[in-house]
Amino acid sequence: MNYLFTQFSRIKELLRDKFILLLLDYDGTLTPIVETPEKAVISKKAKELLQKLSKNHNCKLAIISGRSLKDIKNIVGIKDIIYAGNHGLEIEGPEIKFRTPVSPRSKEVIGNVYKRITNKLSRIKGVLIEDKGLAISAHYRRVNNKDVPEFKRIFGEITAPFVIRDKIKITKGKKVFEIKPPVKWTKGSAALWFLARQKFALGEDNVFPVYIGDDITDEDAFRALKNKGLTIFVGEPVDSAADYYVKNTKEAIKFLKQILKLK
Ligand SMILES: [Mg+2]
Repeated sequence: MNYLFTQFSRIKELLRDKFILLLLDYDGTLTPIVETPEKAVISKKAKELLQKLSKNHNCKLAIISGRSLKDIKNIVGIKDIIYAGNHGLEIEGPEIKFRTPVSPRSKEVIGNVYKRITNKLSRIKGVLIEDKGLAISAHYRRVNNKDVPEFKRIFGEITAPFVIRDKIKITKGKKVFEIKPPVKWTKGSAALWFLARQKFALGEDNVFPVYIGDDITDEDAFRALKNKGLTIFVGEPVDSAADYYVKNTKEAIKFLKQILKLK
């Protein structure tokens, strides 16, 4: 994985004359990771930049987040762009509305698991259990290090019986576990869906996807878009499927500014 800004002239060439489908994660990509999700507010400057990009005729902008659709729409607060919540399980934007089919039974199971983990885990200080409708996030960022093994043990004890019977799926993020319905729909599927849709809409092959993300769930999108566009990991370079990396959210924003300049 190369550092994006050392290859910038090459990247400029790649983006020239293309219609850019800009797919962005939110937490850890557009805003730094903070103690609790509600504190991750986007800066005014970054928001203005996204607004400008969304109005540019050579760009299309979508935010793909692990937050619920309602939450991500609220916290970003820009009208007329596409939002994908719960890692793409629910998508909404101008002339788009999509829900991954999830059976009522599956919703029931998620509700049941939510009750159980809230019951057993809330007594550990610092645990935050988020009900995101179609999915659940169990955050342990604020849990004392000494309590983390206990948190993981209880979490595993409650969820394992559902996992082995394929009733739920667990994914890991930065100090968070996600509990989802057992569907094979990831941020990668959502990214490919956006790409196919956009290509169809424009009736040409000029659409070039650019995906920026920082976490494990973004790896699905990095893999899905391999050789189809440009993928960028945010953070210190790790073992990632992305083509390039930038060091932090500031540099991610800096790159978005460059895109606006080019378009
Ligand atoms: Mg993220």
